[in-house]
Amino acid sequence: MLCMICFLEKCGIALEKLVFMNLCKEDNMEKVLIVDDSIVQAAQLKSILEDDYDVTTVQTPQAGLDAASSGDFSLILLDVVMPEMDGFMLLKKLQEEVFTQHLPVILITSLTDIEHEQKGLTLGAVDYITKPFHPLIVKARVQTHIKLYQYRQQVEYQSMTDQLTGVANRRRHDRVSAGKWQEAVRLQVPFSLCMFDIDKFKVYNDTFGHPAGDKVISAVARTASAHLRRSTDFFARYGGEEFVAFLLGGAAEDAFEHLKKIRQAVEDLHIPHNPKVSRWVTISIGGVTVVPQRGQSYDTYLKVADTMLYDAKRFGRNQVVWANEGMQLWREKESQ
Ligand code: GH3
Ligand code: MG
Ligand code: MG
Repeated sequence: MLCMICFLEKCGIALEKLVFMNLCKEDNMEKVLIVDDSIVQAAQLKSILEDDYDVTTVQTPQAGLDAASSGDFSLILLDVVMPEMDGFMLLKKLQEEVFTQHLPVILITSLTDIEHEQKGLTLGAVDYITKPFHPLIVKARVQTHIKLYQYRQQVEYQSMTDQLTGVANRRRHDRVSAGKWQEAVRLQVPFSLCMFDIDKFKVYNDTFGHPAGDKVISAVARTASAHLRRSTDFFARYGGEEFVAFLLGGAAEDAFEHLKKIRQAVEDLHIPHNPKVSRWVTISIGGVTVVPQRGQSYDTYLKVADTMLYDAKRFGRNQVVWANEGMQLWREKESQ
């Protein structure tokens, strides 16, 4: 868990891609990497595992490091005795890299003494298999550690996913936003940040019941996330009937126009509201676009977005209100 969070903090959305890749492997065959300078032993291990896994073998520690960094693998079988860099050294390097530190590594070695085994396990190997090994034991241990890895991935993913809607939750937002904000500071690209809120939702719940309200929250999340699919977009349920989104790149006007489409798409779902309030369920959106500078904080602009949302409510709801850093305002419905 710690590794994944660390990864998130450092890489922002890159993490989402990795988790997504691991959770949605097309062929459902987990990938195992064997790093062993002995072609014979690598082939032997491969033959033990290849019925159940997609196995790749490499002969050098550097090739092992490169392959492991791809994010494709679910487990590494690592030979300890190798020229240039031994398995312990490679294990240490894998543990230091954010992209590889969460990967389970099983050491395979002819070094049978307790000291070496203890060293490997202390360095972070999940298991230690000594030669000569029995194929069934290798299979069983690999299976156990892949299962544990899958379980951990799933728990980590779930802990950052909103149960009701399936979109990112507040926790994931808090992790990702800081990294993305820093990226925008570094690249000096515009950062558009907005808050959404379902209009008169208390009345909706009081009229149609809480379960129906839950369905509306899911429908709004689905509609909004369908419009925020770029790798530079992020969308999360912030809490209750509130959502947060940010987009990297693009001028304030472009973000404003895009969010208007989302607002319209929700209205076009034609979910009947209590007629005393409005015909359909609608949302209000408040946002701001800024090229963030060092020393400025994401949270400050989140508050600005929230103020714009408050204005959108005040001006009559079912509309987008947007600001830029000079506090120039765009209002979707001037006349209301
Ligand atoms: P406004 O247009 O000003 O936003 O009015 P509102 O009624 O939407 O705002 P208010 O904050 O008064 O009410 C929000 C409602 O959202 C109250 C709460 O019961 C409901 N709500 C929050 N979370 C959930 C949820 O998970 N499911 C359901 N069904 N309702 C929720
Ligand atoms: Mg609210
Ligand atoms: Mg509301």
